[in-house]
Amino acid sequence: MALAACGGQSTPELPAVDLNRDLLTTSLDVDLSAQEVSARIDFAPASSRNLSLRIGDLEILGVSDGQQALDYRVEDADGDLRTPARRLDIATGAGTEVVIRYRYHAHTQFDGWSQAGYTFLWPYYCENLFPCKPSPADGLRFDLLLRNVPTGLTAIYPEHLAGDAPSYQLAWTVADYRWLDLGTTPSGTLIRAAYLNGQELAAIAGTKYLRDEFSWYERTLGPYPWGTQAASVEVDWGPDAYGGMEHHPYWHVPAQDYADPTTHAHEAAHGWFGDGVRIACWEDFVLSEGTASYLAAAAIGAVEGAAREASVWTGYRDQLAAQTRRADHPARPSGCNPDFDVLTIYDVIPYYRGALFFASVEHSIGRQRLLAALRDFAAARQGRAATTQELLDLIRTTTGHDPAAEAQHYLYGLGAID
Ligand SMILES: [Zn+2]
Repeated sequence: MALAACGGQSTPELPAVDLNRDLLTTSLDVDLSAQEVSARIDFAPASSRNLSLRIGDLEILGVSDGQQALDYRVEDADGDLRTPARRLDIATGAGTEVVIRYRYHAHTQFDGWSQAGYTFLWPYYCENLFPCKPSPADGLRFDLLLRNVPTGLTAIYPEHLAGDAPSYQLAWTVADYRWLDLGTTPSGTLIRAAYLNGQELAAIAGTKYLRDEFSWYERTLGPYPWGTQAASVEVDWGPDAYGGMEHHPYWHVPAQDYADPTTHAHEAAHGWFGDGVRIACWEDFVLSEGTASYLAAAAIGAVEGAAREASVWTGYRDQLAAQTRRADHPARPSGCNPDFDVLTIYDVIPYYRGALFFASVEHSIGRQRLLAALRDFAAARQGRAATTQELLDLIRTTTGHDPAAEAQHYLYGLGAID
């Protein structure tokens, strides 16, 4: 434990550690050319007089309450499996706002800001871009302003996230973008694609059904939680990356998957599950990914037809079988342990065992009743954290069907799925 910095008053009192303050809003004013940020963090009143945040490899330049400097210290928090785990402890007094000036650094392992222009923060790496609490249960609002965007490039980011979001939801990307207008949904949400210059054909192919599938989500699950515009944004994650990241309202899809409509449908579904409804702990990853995978298949069925949906399910089953032959684990590990490392279950199992769990429930009660339950759950839990068990309970109470046996088989069990 090293005392690395201490600012402010002449007789400083070392701040105590308090990682439990409830963050309300983080507002980032970013100078892209200097890689310097002024972060204003608002948090709820409490009896505590301290605030601790994780700061990864951020270089802290100063901490104030907006006017006066505050005492703070930077500590290396050891004993945590998710490194780096440096911590900023601030003596807040009775205040509920701090302003932290800092410098951020480039990262190359999908763990912060990349010199390729994008940020990648999932699961714990918010700490390498802004002082934060990475736990998905902690939702907060965000404001973001990017200054000094390089001439000729476009920065795509939300200026404001008006609902409580997980820390990994915020993102920006700066590149040579072109826009493709996909039209407005019946609920009035403008859907667009932002593709990297030269990738127009991939954008057209990948987002051909996106507006209609987004409309289906709005009709099926309720209003879109993240504003009046949404876009699928292409990012250059390098040659080996695939998938996407749920940075609503401007989620990221790498170039390799940008022509794939299933990826766009999946990322769009996270607006409701994963972002809209946050997971209570990392063991509940299946509540985000299994639900998004199921909803994507259902949306594709509704918009692109039964044959396309069948091919999506075949793909899920094939990938799941290949994974369980390599290594197996439950889709939903037991417990809710703050030290649980979600990267130990980061493969297709939570995605496709989760989707197949819903398919099994659907077989028992019908698609419309299951979708109505998911809508009820999204409405009740919007902007809040939820557990997988709470969804199982809601399915039981609203449909009369107890999904415990299906959950045991698909979510908590091991082995091949037929
Ligand atoms: Zn996903």
